[in-house]
Amino acid sequence: MTSKPLDPQSVKGFLTPQEGAALAQAAKRCAELGPILEIGAYCGRSALYLGPAAQNGGTLLFSLDHHRGSEENQPGWEWHDPALWDDEVQAMDSLPTFRRNMARAGLEDAVVVLAGRSAAIARYWNTPLGMVFIDGGHTMKAAYDDYRNWATKLAAGGVLAIHDVFPNPQDGGRPPFEIYQKALASGLFEQINQIQTLALLRRVA
Ligand code: MG
Repeated sequence: MTSKPLDPQSVKGFLTPQEGAALAQAAKRCAELGPILEIGAYCGRSALYLGPAAQNGGTLLFSLDHHRGSEENQPGWEWHDPALWDDEVQAMDSLPTFRRNMARAGLEDAVVVLAGRSAAIARYWNTPLGMVFIDGGHTMKAAYDDYRNWATKLAAGGVLAIHDVFPNPQDGGRPPFEIYQKALASGLFEQINQIQTLALLRRVA
């Protein structure tokens, strides 16, 4: 398999270069605490930042997504991409694109795909994580479940990263901001940094 550097920004997604760089830096620091988990993989843009950081730190990136698209990716919605539609099963499927991008970037050994529902996988997960990046569904239930199910699996000192945190409701949906507030209010986390819409918190207890 040939591989060459793949610009994450050439892959579909919403993470900015600044947010991506901050994620990679955090992952590099957390790799000694345990593996990295991302929730919401889509076509692999964030994995292209997190995967190399995990690899360089001697750990793995677990990339979790049902790969059936978020609400806004469904037909008729603003962010629907017909190229990711599987006509035979009448559903979105971003997994082939994700895998192709990991192969192109030479990251297949560094990035382990968890193709399934976040809550179902969390039930069987016991390994303490160095970092958790929540960038999955934006409904209140999806965001809250991702927080509740996964934030507790972080090692002490590990980083909780949340994407699409909009303090001003005019700028975007509330659930990621609400779980961010919940994390701070829990006393389990302290804020490290906010880069654009990416909030970074550290588990302190
Ligand atoms: Mg996002």
